Amino acid sequence: MKAAVIMDMFGCPNRCRHCWLGHGKNAHIPEKDFIWVSEHYKNYKQNNEPFFNELIFMTWYREPDFSGSYRPLWELEKQLSTVKVPRYELASVWRLARDEDYAPWLKSLGVDCVQITLFGTERNTDYFSGRKGAFRDCLSAIEVLLLNDIVPRVQMFPFSTTVDDFENLQRVFIDLKLEERTSHLGKEFACFFNSPTPTGAGYNLENIRMSKDDFLRLPPYFIEKTMKYFKAYDLDNLLKTEAELLPELLADNSPLNDTPEVTAFMVASDFNVYPNYGEIADWWSLGNLKTGGIELVMDAFLNHKNPGLKMNYEIPVKYFAGKYGDKKSAKLYTRGDLIQKWFRLEAMGVQEE
Ligand code: SF4
Repeated sequence: MKAAVIMDMFGCPNRCRHCWLGHGKNAHIPEKDFIWVSEHYKNYKQNNEPFFNELIFMTWYREPDFSGSYRPLWELEKQLSTVKVPRYELASVWRLARDEDYAPWLKSLGVDCVQITLFGTERNTDYFSGRKGAFRDCLSAIEVLLLNDIVPRVQMFPFSTTVDDFENLQRVFIDLKLEERTSHLGKEFACFFNSPTPTGAGYNLENIRMSKDDFLRLPPYFIEKTMKYFKAYDLDNLLKTEAELLPELLADNSPLNDTPEVTAFMVASDFNVYPNYGEIADWWSLGNLKTGGIELVMDAFLNHKNPGLKMNYEIPVKYFAGKYGDKKSAKLYTRGDLIQKWFRLEAMGVQEE
């Protein structure tokens, strides 16, 4: 089996209100503890044979490179992993705005695009990032990226309460000449609207989730960019309300069976392990590496012993759709996000009994 083992060694400077990874504390996990975790995965056997034939180890799953030791940590990741460690189009915005050596280092690793997340202009981005100064850091990061020939790609989260702010954001983009400056680097400027997964902290934003009418009030420039980014031919393809998704889900006799391309074991700073199929919550926990050990964690994973994996692999989607689906809901969801929300409702209900 190929897998990644990713540990939340240092946390994140933000406390985004949509964060599916939750708002755990910022820990300082020593390297020796990460090496200890890696050895447990490398030494895990079934029938006297190593179970994993490829393992990638990463020292973060919230903000990448948030630690001041980001360079030795990257070297450690490469040293422990049995295959090439991927660099995603993610980087520390916090560090880009403060550490002048960071962008050249990213460039030296071959990074040519970095994603920046905005929730509108300053007031909304600071509020939804959970940190004063977040918007200014994003603008500084965009400048630093462009100076280092790295293209910024902007992900935007609109809510029913923030629609009007996106005209202001478009003006900021025009003032920054993002289209022109990106095209000088031989790339097209990409930006797109995204919707939060209704899990983790993001569950608390359900009352301001966008409807289709809200979406259509957003600036046409951003809507066109979003369609281009997702390669959507028409808006009806791109935007589905819960009411529109429901008939198919009510008839779906299969479980969700969501299996990520690469399975990742997310190791929290308290050594609890979660699969990258769902949120950091009790109902997805596989157990604790320190107190239960790798055998217990792998048994829970392989035999679907937590409620999250059972819901994902064993219970038909139509059960959740019948119990939680709202035929009148005009709110926009992806199919997977809507089902993940129902998993959460089911797990919370089970816990409350
Ligand atoms: S969404 Fe990302 S940047 Fe925001 S709090 Fe979560 S991990 Fe940090």
